[in-house]
Amino acid sequence: MDKIPLTHASLGERELAAVAEVFASGWPAGQGPSGKALEAGLQERYGAGGAVALSNCGAALHLAMLALGVKPGDEVIVADYTFPAPAHAVRYVDAVPVFADVRADTGTVDPQAVAALVTPRTVGIIAVDTVGLPADYTELQAIADRHQLFLVEDAACAVGATYQGRPAGSLAEVACLSFHGRKGASSGEGGALIATDPQIAAFARRRASFGIGSIFDQGQVIGLPIPEFLEIGYNYKLSDIAAAIMRVQLERLEEFLDHRAAIAARYAELLAGEELLTVPHVPADRTHAWQSYMVTLAEGVDRGAVATDLRAANIGSFHGTWASHVQPAFESKQVCPVSADLFRRNLGIPMHAELTMSQTERVAEVLRKAVRTHATPRT
Ligand SMILES: *Cc1c(COP(=O)(O)O)cnc(C)c1O
Repeated sequence: MDKIPLTHASLGERELAAVAEVFASGWPAGQGPSGKALEAGLQERYGAGGAVALSNCGAALHLAMLALGVKPGDEVIVADYTFPAPAHAVRYVDAVPVFADVRADTGTVDPQAVAALVTPRTVGIIAVDTVGLPADYTELQAIADRHQLFLVEDAACAVGATYQGRPAGSLAEVACLSFHGRKGASSGEGGALIATDPQIAAFARRRASFGIGSIFDQGQVIGLPIPEFLEIGYNYKLSDIAAAIMRVQLERLEEFLDHRAAIAARYAELLAGEELLTVPHVPADRTHAWQSYMVTLAEGVDRGAVATDLRAANIGSFHGTWASHVQPAFESKQVCPVSADLFRRNLGIPMHAELTMSQTERVAEVLRKAVRTHATPRT
């Protein structure tokens, strides 16, 4: 039986050729010609005021908190059911992450939960496009406007998804993307910050480069201007090598998305009617980027045993994503029951752009058999 991995990054000859060009150019570091070209492409794709290529999405979220002026002790409401990068970013600036529970049907942050958590100390909201499915931005933006809060879109998993016809990555004043190898389009590690306000983008670009402008640009200037370090910055630049890979990946994005969507549709067909699990729900006003495919197992199905059976059949699986509030690092006393329940019952099964239809069928067959084997009868 061939191995069916949970994830597989689609990187090939075209990406290698793009990397070879960067090698030949002599500028492999960040903020050079390839990085600038990626930024220009992202700015155009999202109709943004500015786009900044960064080392990863965690860095983008950190810079978003700085650019939006989050101060120690401020409260930022974060979606709970996610890779907990948003809460980390809030903590980087010594602010307080306040965890908002999620919708049971989509796993995205519940606008009502967000509204209920606003206090006089709240300065903003970080919504997450959960494993590729955009959150409810119309409702979230209304809450943000009503209380004069910022809204950040963590679109780490959602490159290529849409909400009410607009692309994920353009659904809030600041959006953060990830190009990590587990996401739908990847340069290994990488990310970007997309902003409607060009000044936010300029701030992030400078802070991503130790607080000064592009070293590549300095090399083009005639004379000897010596930039001064006026502020404390970080090194969060994306290398031009990675930027070259990403430019190719974005050209191939439609092909990847079509493939993932076809796999998702086939899983839904094959697993329909299985009462021991639920397949993902995609509301009619949005599309999913399918970074992951998570099924929710029925109460009483032994998830660990199901994963073991999948592994025995050479099929990768994963718990899905995290309930943030229960992670010890955050020492939160909050409860988010829906998120905790999804964290306990969801199971990620193989999803990537190189999965074949026959592999998809084998996964569905093994999964269906496993959930039936490991279900305790309901009392
Ligand atoms: C993967 C992920 C991140 C982190 O992305 P990196 O590029 O690895 O830093 C942030 N937020 C969400 C929702 C993610 O899924």
